[in-house]
Amino acid sequence: MRQAVSAGWVIPVDGPPLRDAHVAWEDGRIVEVAPGRVARHFGEDALILPGIVNAHSHLEYSVYAGFGDGEPFGSWLATHIARKRVLTRDDMVAIARHGAAQSLGAGITTTADYSFSGAAADAAAELGLRAIVYLEVFGADPRDAEQRFLELRAALPEGELVTVGVSPHAPYTCSAEVYEWCLSLGVPVGTHLAESDGENEWLEHGTGSLAAAAEYLVPPTGRRAVDTLADVLGPGLLCAHCVTLDEDEVAALAQADVPVAHCPRSNALLGCGIAPVVALRDAGVRVGLGTDSPASTPSFDPWDEMRASLGGARARERRPDALTAADVLHLATLGSAAALGLGDELGSLAPGKRADLTVLSLAGSPYDPVEDPVVAAVFGGSPSGILETVVDGKTRYLQEETAWQEVRSTASAARRRMLA
Ligand SMILES: [Zn+2]
Repeated sequence: MRQAVSAGWVIPVDGPPLRDAHVAWEDGRIVEVAPGRVARHFGEDALILPGIVNAHSHLEYSVYAGFGDGEPFGSWLATHIARKRVLTRDDMVAIARHGAAQSLGAGITTTADYSFSGAAADAAAELGLRAIVYLEVFGADPRDAEQRFLELRAALPEGELVTVGVSPHAPYTCSAEVYEWCLSLGVPVGTHLAESDGENEWLEHGTGSLAAAAEYLVPPTGRRAVDTLADVLGPGLLCAHCVTLDEDEVAALAQADVPVAHCPRSNALLGCGIAPVVALRDAGVRVGLGTDSPASTPSFDPWDEMRASLGGARARERRPDALTAADVLHLATLGSAAALGLGDELGSLAPGKRADLTVLSLAGSPYDPVEDPVVAAVFGGSPSGILETVVDGKTRYLQEETAWQEVRSTASAARRRMLA
């Protein structure tokens, strides 16, 4: 069945914005993006955008907000692990469901989620969020990683919207052998890389802030993080963060065609630094934008993330054209899709692509009436402005109707248990 929506603006991302235009889809795929209103029209002050693609999340940490705020990275991580231990799997699903709801309500239609328990897959399937769920593995021995992966995977729903991947957590918690095993599986693989100075200090010298969490770590390698993974870096290893890179390391990531998930709010709030996103893009690296999770950032809000990316890049480079509004909207949509290897399917509004889209209202914002729709969306966008989110042609969030009251209450009960 053909469906269509129209609004004051359509921003396809891979082409110029269209005034008073519509997007039509059939059987989950876009069939038309063109000028003209249709019966379901969202008004002058609304914009239709491709669904936001979140290149890095942990839905299962949706209610971990504020835990260990201001602590050094190592003790922040230890607090986080200790509290996670009191949760049951049902608690984890309840929390992940909350994260999936927050994502859809913010305009996110696809998320690349690193999942400790696999609960994110249940949540995404239930709420209709497209997700690659990378099951987290840890340690030095690939046999332990394999056992954990197989146990977690056996319990998961795999459906049209959910793809299962694997996440060797980080070079300081997994050996090179574990990375090699993960990459041999033929599923999507994602890791955390070069997030903090502490990571390099541990790997090179066995010292620094991560030493506080030494019981969870693999032994130092005597090399920096990027060099530690040199043999396994490639286009099939999504790397979140990539903050503490020197020039040679930027070149090494570009050379190996490593996709990067840039998470500027998380990196800022944990005191890790500002990633060299301009240098990475200039070097030809596929960069996407990720919100990370409320364990380190306040929300799964991609609009705040876009603004943080813009502010951080301009501040770091000391020039206002270091990154434009169009650049960061691209990062959060087509850039993320390309980083996940899904650039042909997702990330822009074009015939043939999956019908993943979101409708943003700017009513009452300082950008209304709209002058430049891309600038207005990036600076004026917020979850409270999201009117509707469509994934694979189906409405998964409608501002007037979707309340998710039970989702909220079961997630907050799980948080209460962690705080007890
Ligand atoms: Zn992460």
